[in-house]
Order: sequence, then structure tokens, then C-alpha cells
Amino acid sequence: RIIMGIESSCDETGVGLVRLHDDGAVELLADEVASSVEQHARFGGVVPEVASRAHLEAMVPTANRAFEAADLKLSDVDAIAVTAGPGLAGALLVGVSAAKAYAAALGVPLYGVNHLAGHIAVDTLQHGPLPTPSLALLVSGGHTQLLRVDDIATTITELGSTVDDAAGEAYDKVARVLGLPYPGGPPIDKAAKQGNPAAIAFPRGMTGPRDAKFDFSFSGLKTAVARWVEGAERRGEEIPVNDVAASFQEAVADVLTAKAVRAAKESGIGTLVISGGVAANSRLSELARERCEAAGIELRVPRPRLCTDNGAMIAALGAHVVAAGVKQSSLDISANPALPVDTVSI
Ligand code: ATP
Ligand code: MG
Ligand code: FE
Repeated sequence: RIIMGIESSCDETGVGLVRLHDDGAVELLADEVASSVEQHARFGGVVPEVASRAHLEAMVPTANRAFEAADLKLSDVDAIAVTAGPGLAGALLVGVSAAKAYAAALGVPLYGVNHLAGHIAVDTLQHGPLPTPSLALLVSGGHTQLLRVDDIATTITELGSTVDDAAGEAYDKVARVLGLPYPGGPPIDKAAKQGNPAAIAFPRGMTGPRDAKFDFSFSGLKTAVARWVEGAERRGEEIPVNDVAASFQEAVADVLTAKAVRAAKESGIGTLVISGGVAANSRLSELARERCEAAGIELRVPRPRLCTDNGAMIAALGAHVVAAGVKQSSLDISANPALPVDTVSI
């Protein structure tokens, strides 16, 4: 069966096509993405109205490119999956409306699915079926969560999450302080490679004995970086951008991996998946690999292209949902900007 996945929760219009094999294996056939990130760059963040309009313009061309790439026709599609939430309301609506139109016109079932579960499900395209249970560290522009995955199609439980900023948000804000472009993850990752991660001892949020074990906090870290840079500027010193980037990045990777490994150990889970845009970070995956190896935990990190928003992740999740025999969505569904992570499909 062929599953089409549509993603439009933020600033990427994504259309993916996958084949669900009889044994449950999911094969990637096409993954086309159109991004409006350049239109948001000068604002230092995504402008919702601009994103919605870009989705509207890009949706059908992106879908057509996916069918071309996979050498498939619309009539080959057996089911449509679409991001129903969480995300920007107007942006989500474009994808949901398009998905309804495709489902109605083709006479195939529609599945409204969770974007965050999609970030995890995408790993199965690269590394095969997820062992159950698995632990997932979801680190993206809007979310930072530690999740227990008992069944990617139906059962995801939150063990912890950020109490303030998401990890990706911290990257974007620190990049701005350092005069690096938006989105901040890639330029900080690059600068950090030339810097000393031990140059500045930035705080590790939520790691005190009284703090919730699996929650995260990055707003204190972000403020500490801003204060440090202000201090250096006041003294008329040149900002050692590479050292600040490396020290900030080390603090983020340290806290994320320490908590994830501890959660895996305490719950006796043998597999950790790290996904979402920040999973593309080179130091995060390096440190996670070291610490997982030491703890005897299998680590899975999808390739960077699959970590950031795309349609293939939604098609992959859709395929698992179809394979699990989950009830299809009504053609009356709407987008839910605040869809909770434990609601895999609606
Ligand atoms: P959500 O999935 O929570 O709705 P989103 O979809 O906007 O948010 P993603 O596209 O998954 O988020 O990730 C975008 C974030 O990933 C940005 O904050 C960006 O700075 C960050 N990012 C991308 N590449 C890297 C990298 N190499 N290192 C660190 N962060 C990165
Ligand atoms: Mg994005
Ligand atoms: Fe995302």
C-alpha cells in the first residue's frame, strides 16, 4: 500500500510517499520539501501569516514533485496522512484542507496524525521497526520532550519536557545574541567546531537534586549566554563567538544526553531515538553515542534531512497507523494547534 504524508505545521511544506509492505516494513519513496525559512530569516522567527501563504502556494507543486520523484500517479495512493497538530493554526489548516481534498477526490481514507510522533516515526524509514518499548528524545524548534514509546501508532507517554524554552529555541536565541543567522542551530554547530567547549562554564538547567528528574530548562542558559556576551561587550572585549557557541552547545548536549540515558536506565529501556531538528546537531549525537555506548543502550539518530520537518515523517507515521488498524479520521477533522503528544492520531 502507498501512503501519502502531508506536513505544514511550521515553515516547511512537505509531501512524502512511502510503501507499506505486508510484513509492516515501511519504505521511503519520495520526500519533497519546500521551505519558507528565508522569508522569515529577517524577522528572526517564523511569521505565521507568511508561512500560511507559502504553504498555500507550495502545497500542490510539492505534491506533484513527490509523485514525479517516486514515479507514481495520484491513483496509486491508498491512504493520506496529514499533520493535524501541534503547530501554527493557519499553517496546519492548509495541510489539513489539502489532505481532505486529496482524500475526498481519490476516495481513500484520511488520517490526521501528530507531528511530534512523526518526528519519531521517521526513524523507522532509516533503521527499521522500533523495538518496544523505546525511549525518544524529541528536540525541535518548539518542543523538548522525553517520551516512552510503547507503540508508535498508538501509545506514547511523556516522561518529561521543557518547563520553558525548547532546545531549538535556545539555539535560535543564542545565535541572535552572537550575531549569527536564523535558524541558529546550523551556524552555532559550525562555529562550535572551532571553539573550546570548556571555555565558559554555562549552567546546566534542572539538574539539581530537587528538580524534576526528566524535565528540562533552557531559558536560564540562554540568559546566562546573553549576560556573558553583554559583559564582554561592556568591557570592550571582542566576543569569542566560537568559544561561546561551543560552551553553550556543550551545556545543551550534556543535559539532554544525561537525562535521556538516565531515563533509559531507570525504566530498563534498551533503545534511545533522538529526533527533531536539534537531533541534527553534531555534538549532541556524538555525546549521546559515547554515553549510550557506556550504558549499553542502542542509539538511533535519523540522518539530518529526516530530523527536520518533512512529509516523509508523516507518511511513515501514517503507514504505522494504517498497519495497526487504527480507525481513519473523519473528513470533518480540523487542525489542533495544541494537540498533545500522547494523541498519535485523531
Ligand atoms: P516542532 O517540531 O516542535 O513543531 P519545528 O518543526 O519548527 O518545531 P524542527 O524543524 O524539527 O522544529 O527543528 C528546527 C530547529 O532545529 C531550529 O530551532 C533549528 O535551529 C534547530 N536545528 C537545526 N539544525 C541544527 C543543528 N545542527 N544543531 C542544533 N540545532 C539545530
Ligand atoms: Mg522549520
Ligand atoms: Fe517539527
